[in-house]
Amino acid sequence: MERGTRFIRHIYRVLLDLVLPPRCVVCGRVETWLCEACAQRIPLSDRPVCPRCGDAWEGSGVCTRCRTTPLHLASIHSVFVYQDAIRDAIHALKYRGGWEIARPLASRMAEAWRTRRLTSDMLVPVPLHIDREAQRGYNQSQLLAHHLAAQTGLPLAETLLFRIRATASQARLGPRERWSNVKDAFTCVEAHDLSGLCVTLVDDVATTGATLDACAVALLARGARMVSAITLAHAV
Ligand SMILES: [Zn+2]
Ligand SMILES: [Zn+2]
Repeated sequence: MERGTRFIRHIYRVLLDLVLPPRCVVCGRVETWLCEACAQRIPLSDRPVCPRCGDAWEGSGVCTRCRTTPLHLASIHSVFVYQDAIRDAIHALKYRGGWEIARPLASRMAEAWRTRRLTSDMLVPVPLHIDREAQRGYNQSQLLAHHLAAQTGLPLAETLLFRIRATASQARLGPRERWSNVKDAFTCVEAHDLSGLCVTLVDDVATTGATLDACAVALLARGARMVSAITLAHAV
């Protein structure tokens, strides 16, 4: 999108939020983008998926893509399918200042973490570029990771991974471009040695897995034994 158009859309949203206060994306109650009670009722994803990349897949073993070009990630676990109320909630979380709904959403991530008996040595949020974080005021993945760590007792490494360069928004790119857009975009803080550790990345949405995989490459280069990911939602 052109810069001018983006700015106008941003102003439009800001004005809209002034006129229309946040409303729960499920029940419409005013004050929050998602009530705690409504967040509890959204069904967790139970569709059959590829055990590696988390894409919808009904075959046995891993999907065709993972058989031909496997990810660096050991697995991507997603809690919801990116549709309906969850899509609206994530939109509010990212673009409408709805930082407070990270907590009820992360509690569903913690529920999935326990039900699926996942394990890890530490949680690492997918970093935003510093400019985008400044514009948004927060990093939604960091908020989700923070609440998930609090609810599971897992250690959280918030400043371990960072973006070396700004990247175009993945949402506007085709599947092929998404991989080249994020390649070599991440690195780890020098002093960290992750030897032998199993690390879990935390993000809001997994689409192609390109961003998560680029993060995994940086963590593996630092000695991590295995890198997995948990996301709030997975593309339909
Ligand atoms: Zn509600
Ligand atoms: Zn797969």
